Amino acid sequence: MSEARNVKNGILEIGGISVPDLAKACGTPLFVYDENELDQQMSGYKTYFQSDQFETEVIYASKAFTCKALLQLLEKNGLSLDVVSGGELYLAEQAGFPMERIYFHGNNKTDEELKLALDMGCKTIVLDSLMECERVVELADSLKCKIEVMIRINPGITAHTHKYIITGNLDSKFGVMFHDEDTITKMIDLIKDSSFVGFIGFHAHIGSQIFDLRAYDAVIERLIKYIKKLSKDHNLEIKCLDFGGGFGVRYTDEDQPNEIQEVCRRIIKKCEEELLKYDLHLKKIMIEPGRSIVAEAGNTIYHVGFMKKTPNKEYLFVDGGMTDNIRVALYDARYDCDLAEKMDQKKEYQYTVAGKCCESGDILIENAPLPKAETGDLLVVYGTGAYGYSMASNYNRLNRPAVVFAKEGKARVVIKRESYSDQLRLEADEEVII
Ligand SMILES: *Cc1c(COP(=O)(O)O)cnc(C)c1O
Repeated sequence: MSEARNVKNGILEIGGISVPDLAKACGTPLFVYDENELDQQMSGYKTYFQSDQFETEVIYASKAFTCKALLQLLEKNGLSLDVVSGGELYLAEQAGFPMERIYFHGNNKTDEELKLALDMGCKTIVLDSLMECERVVELADSLKCKIEVMIRINPGITAHTHKYIITGNLDSKFGVMFHDEDTITKMIDLIKDSSFVGFIGFHAHIGSQIFDLRAYDAVIERLIKYIKKLSKDHNLEIKCLDFGGGFGVRYTDEDQPNEIQEVCRRIIKKCEEELLKYDLHLKKIMIEPGRSIVAEAGNTIYHVGFMKKTPNKEYLFVDGGMTDNIRVALYDARYDCDLAEKMDQKKEYQYTVAGKCCESGDILIENAPLPKAETGDLLVVYGTGAYGYSMASNYNRLNRPAVVFAKEGKARVVIKRESYSDQLRLEADEEVII
């Protein structure tokens, strides 16, 4: 993010284009991704997540942000994809993403979604529960469709992060608790009995925005010890382990993320050590970064509208808000911002940046230090590339913003701005035939 922040004559540029030019050409609110930065993150993971002891795979978690253009970049960089719904799977198929590199996650995949995955030739389903395992075996056997499966394990390790985004705790809705051997045994037996379902290994994802890499060490230790015992007890061949994503990113200067190189090397090294310790050989180790690929490459541009003083605050209102960035209301997320045309002015004022929705909680940044702001200024919020557009809504019937990829002075719209008529495309007046 910060390295790529280029300022010319006090005006911010993204991907070699000035923010006012972007706003003029594409309107606001606008998501702008620096395409070179996306490329760098993807190729960084691909380059550093390598071992000479086992194969590796970097699987992007598409829920962080997805669209055809992003999928094409991932494909070009040799990354794989994790999807969590029929919708994400459908998009991947429409974008021509190779099905043999897709992993289907989720705790409550519907029959329709499972059939779609089997039909499209999605390579791997990550099973989240015994019930799902039963259903997948039934479907694959009856449709005579081959599918590989992994089992999502809850390793019982809680990463230190915001409590709402922890998924590795004991009562998480995700995965099967690792010491619930009864359930794991039942799942493995079901899979063994099927001639269409093939077991490849285990998956764990312990949380998000994790900075303390010891959390991954702990999961690696626990899972490798676990599969040593399991493979012996069940005479089971375990080929792969997937340690999920959650690698922390810099939203504000308070966040000190680890370099991709460091994250990758540490995980690889830990896996190599633990495998050696237990005299185990695995075919492949996987990770699933989401936000760390897209967050810092993305920014949101808004126009400043009206302003208002209250006894303790000065509000600066922007033409978007919780509809394009729900993370603040949902997780207390923090962001940095600038006035794009006043980059060389001192930040002598403090504003509460709020959106235009009819919710008091529609605040983007509390006490943002900025130069003196005026109506018509362009405000850039940094690091909005993950879980921004993908969580966007039409609350208050706001149109969802456009998304632009900017690179070396050229920009392309990859998702068009929504229009009022787009919002009405599903309106109906049809008689229901029962
Ligand atoms: C959300 C998720 C990820 C990615 O998390 P990030 O914090 O975006 O890196 C990876 N794997 C699974 C299973 C997830 O649910």
